Amino acid sequence: MEKYSIALLPGDGIGVDVVREGRKVLETISNIHGGYSFSFTEFDWSCEYYAKHGKMMPDDGLEILKNFDSIFLGAVGYPGVPDHVSLWGLLLPIRRQFEQYINLRPVKLLKGIQSPLAGKTSKDLDFIVIRENNEGEYSSIGGRMYEGTDMDMAIQNSVFTRKGVERVLRYAFNVAQKQGKRGHVTAATKSNGINHTMPFWDEYVEKISHEYPGISHDTVHIDALAAFFVSKPETMDVVVASNLFGDILTDLGAAIVGGLGIAPSANINPEKKYPSMFEPVHGSAPDIAGKGIANPLASIWCTSMMLDHLGQPESAKAIIDAMEDVLQEKEVLTPDLGGHSTTEQVGDYICEKLRARL
Ligand code: ATP
Ligand code: MG
Repeated sequence: MEKYSIALLPGDGIGVDVVREGRKVLETISNIHGGYSFSFTEFDWSCEYYAKHGKMMPDDGLEILKNFDSIFLGAVGYPGVPDHVSLWGLLLPIRRQFEQYINLRPVKLLKGIQSPLAGKTSKDLDFIVIRENNEGEYSSIGGRMYEGTDMDMAIQNSVFTRKGVERVLRYAFNVAQKQGKRGHVTAATKSNGINHTMPFWDEYVEKISHEYPGISHDTVHIDALAAFFVSKPETMDVVVASNLFGDILTDLGAAIVGGLGIAPSANINPEKKYPSMFEPVHGSAPDIAGKGIANPLASIWCTSMMLDHLGQPESAKAIIDAMEDVLQEKEVLTPDLGGHSTTEQVGDYICEKLRARL
């Protein structure tokens, strides 16, 4: 029997509440489907930990996490602790050290959710955005010059490497081949304005596309592509983008399928040399922390992505089905989706639906 070791990093604020429900769902589905089980180890690395120890995690934190099968993160962030502390102190080291060079986000309108795009249904909104997660525009190379003078300026360099670009593109074409609806890849670019890195990116899109003769592709400028997400999302299948463009597109993608309460994300190391990390898109939401009303569905959707990655696609699908049951019934939902239920009640109800579908 397969036993998956999961590192739980609930973090701060509502992260703690939603990870608890996600864990419950993982335990329930493994009991129902059998054949595999989980062992969970929880770590209190967070902004609270930072307040006590002056760092987000212990010095050997990455060494500790290295041997887990997956990492399940809630959210880190607390008023008063600057974002760069939680980002550079925990999230970025994990993403970079564990070569999680894929940030994967489904843009899928679940049944029962109303899209803000008028007239668009679950059939129209069902695609995947793949964001490069390790390099690109978010490099720390650059600096400030001539401060306090008329020539005051700042320079930030982007870094696009053959290795980094090829692997994210191959991943995208593979996804299109294995699970795309139409076997089509759309690559985001801006080679009309950014004249070194983006033509480089485009060149590799063409090159890698030749390895996948069965997959069609196009290259679309980021500004037009953002508009297409809104005007014709039904034409999308697999979208691949650099770090910055992917960051923007994935938030837009989340917004058109129901927003922060349900949007999941995965930071994937495709080679499975290191653990991948699954986390809801939302943050710690200090305004509703401790009230027991955070929507756990984003975190529960993350457990489905985790199961897919671990090689349990049937369990992954069962969780999405249970979520759609609950969303369509509209009886047990948190206030952000117009309901009156608590985080725990929604988690429990998802588990009930999983058992009922057996
Ligand atoms: P961070 O800096 O950690 O991203 P933030 O305040 O910028 O935090 P979020 O924590 O993502 O952003 O929250 C933004 C708003 O969305 C919050 O005010 C919160 O009310 C709402 N929100 C976020 N996640 C959820 C959730 N799971 N359930 C209900 N409401 C949520
Ligand atoms: Mg935020």
